[in-house]
Amino acid sequence: MLRTAALLILLVPAVAAQTWTEADTEAVTGNLLTLTFAPDLGALAEGEREAVAHLLAAGQILQELYEEQVHPDASEVRFHLDPESDEALLFRLFKGPVGTTADNRRVAFAERARPPSPERGVYPQGITAEEVEAYLAAHPEHRDDLLALRTVVRRAAPDEIARDRQTLEDHPSLAALHPRFTARLAALAERPDATALYAAPYAVAYADRVMVVRHHLLSAARAVEETDRDFAAYLRLRATDLLTGNYEGGDAAWVAGEFQNLNAQIGSYETYDDALFGVKAFYGLSLLARDEARSAELAAALTDIQDLEDRLPYERHKRVRSQIPVGVYNVIADFGQARGTNTATILPNEADHARKYGRTILLRYNVLTDPELFAGAKARFCAGVLPQHCDDLTLQGNFQRTLWHEVRHYLGVDRTEDGRALGPALQRSADLLEEMKSDLVSLFVAERLHETGYYTDEALRSVYASGILRVLQTVRPRREQAYQTMQLMQWNYFLEAGLLSLDASTGRLAIDYSRYHDTAESLLREVLAVQSAGDPERAEAFVERYTTWDDDLHGRVAAALAEAPAAGYRLVRYRALGE
Ligand SMILES: [Zn+2]
Repeated sequence: MLRTAALLILLVPAVAAQTWTEADTEAVTGNLLTLTFAPDLGALAEGEREAVAHLLAAGQILQELYEEQVHPDASEVRFHLDPESDEALLFRLFKGPVGTTADNRRVAFAERARPPSPERGVYPQGITAEEVEAYLAAHPEHRDDLLALRTVVRRAAPDEIARDRQTLEDHPSLAALHPRFTARLAALAERPDATALYAAPYAVAYADRVMVVRHHLLSAARAVEETDRDFAAYLRLRATDLLTGNYEGGDAAWVAGEFQNLNAQIGSYETYDDALFGVKAFYGLSLLARDEARSAELAAALTDIQDLEDRLPYERHKRVRSQIPVGVYNVIADFGQARGTNTATILPNEADHARKYGRTILLRYNVLTDPELFAGAKARFCAGVLPQHCDDLTLQGNFQRTLWHEVRHYLGVDRTEDGRALGPALQRSADLLEEMKSDLVSLFVAERLHETGYYTDEALRSVYASGILRVLQTVRPRREQAYQTMQLMQWNYFLEAGLLSLDASTGRLAIDYSRYHDTAESLLREVLAVQSAGDPERAEAFVERYTTWDDDLHGRVAAALAEAPAAGYRLVRYRALGE
C-alpha cells in the first residue's frame, strides 16, 4: 500500500494542554488546501449512473459508521453540528470530533466529545491493552474472535447482551450466519459475568445500517447486471460479505473480475485506526471511474514484467503472475477510512486471499496528478535540493514512480530462503522492508524501462527526482513509523553512496544522477538479502545502521522542507455528492 507523505501523521509526545483552542482552529483554516474531485462521468450508461447513486448512498452510511468506529461520541456530535460552523468544517476534515493540531497532537475539538482514547469505538470504553491481554491469556479459546478484523469487543454486561440478542431476533439471517456468536450470547445471558469480554460481529453491532448498505449494493448490482456482469457479481458477493464479515467471496470476484467503467473498494480493510491492537479494520468505500486509455497503456507496459523480475539482484527468481490486476482510475468519491488523498491502494491485505487470488492495484489518477497537491510536493522538493535540480521533478515522474511502486509489491522475495512467510519471520521490520523493496525496485528497473523506450530521458530524470523527494523527512521518524523509517534509511544510504551530498553553504542537497542506478541496485541487493535470510536481529541491525539522524544535516534539510509553501491540511470534496 502507499500513503501520501502526510505531515499530519507524525505524532509528537503529548505535552501541551489537551484542549482545542481558537488558535488551533485558525492554524487549521489558515493552512488548508481544499480540493474538489470532479471526474467526467458523461460516458456512463444509465444503469451505471443508477449504480453510482446507490454506491454513493452506501458510502454515506459507511462514512457515518466509520466516524462512530473512530470515536464513541461521533454520532452525538454530528447530530448537533451547525453546518455553517468551523466545528462542522473540522468534523468533515478530521472525519470525526478529534483533530490534529499544528504540532501534531490529537485533541477533541467538540465539547460533546470525550478526549481521544486508543480503544476508539470498537473496544469497551476505558479498557486497556493489558486488561484485554489478561482476558485472552485466561480464555485463549476467544482470542480469534476478540482480535478478529471485523468484530467489536464488548463487556458481557446484561444490557449489552440484551441489545445484541434483540438484534439477532430482529434479523434472523444474522443469527443463521453467526451460529457461534449466537450460542456464546445465549450462554452469557444464562450466566452473566461482568468481567467477561465477547466479540460482536460488525454486522450485528451495526445491523440496521449494514442492512441498508447491503440493499444499496444489491440495487447497484441489478442496475449493471446487463452491462457489467463481473462488477454486478462482485457487488452481490460483497453484499453478503458485509453480513458474514468474511470477505473472501467478494475479494476473489473483485481481484479477478474484468469490470467496465466503474470499480469500488467496499467495506472494512485497513487497520490503521485501531490504536489499541492494530487489528480492527475500519469501514470505508471508494468509488472509482476507470480511465480506459491509461489502463490499457499500463497493461501493455506490464507485459514484460517477468523480464524485470529476472533482472533483480537476487538468485531465487520466481514466476510472476502474467496478469496483474491494475487499473488507472479517477476518484468519484471516497468515504470513511478511504477518504483523503491516498494515491494508490493494493488490496486485499489478508494473506490467504492475496495468495489465492492476487491483489488488485487501484491507481488514483486525479489524486496523483492533482496540480495543487503536486505544487506542494514540488515546493518541498525544491526547498530540499540545489536550485539546478528543482525542475527535474515533474508530475508524470511522481505518477510513474507511485505506479511502479505498487506493481513492485508483486516482485522480489516473498518467502525466506527456508520457506517461511516474511511477516512472522521479520516481525516489526517486515512492513518497512517490503515497502523499501518496492521503492527500490521501481528505481532499479527505471534504467531498463528507459532502454526499452518506456521512459524518455526527461521521464527517467523525473522518476529519479521523485525517488529523492520520497526519502526526505520533515522530522526525525519514530521507529514504529514504517514508511518514514525506511525512507530515512534510503536517505542515509544515498548519502553514504554519494548519490546525495549536502552543499554546506546552502544547506541543500546535491544529486549525482550518475550514481543513481548502482546505488539503488546495491541497496536493493541488501534489502532482498535481509528478507531472504528472515532473521529479525539482522533486520533490526540493518534498520539501526541506516536510521541515524544528524541535526546539522538531516535537521537542516528538514527545517527547510518544513518552511516550504505547502499546505499542512487537505480537505477533499466531491462533485458527485453535489459539493
Ligand atoms: Zn507499498
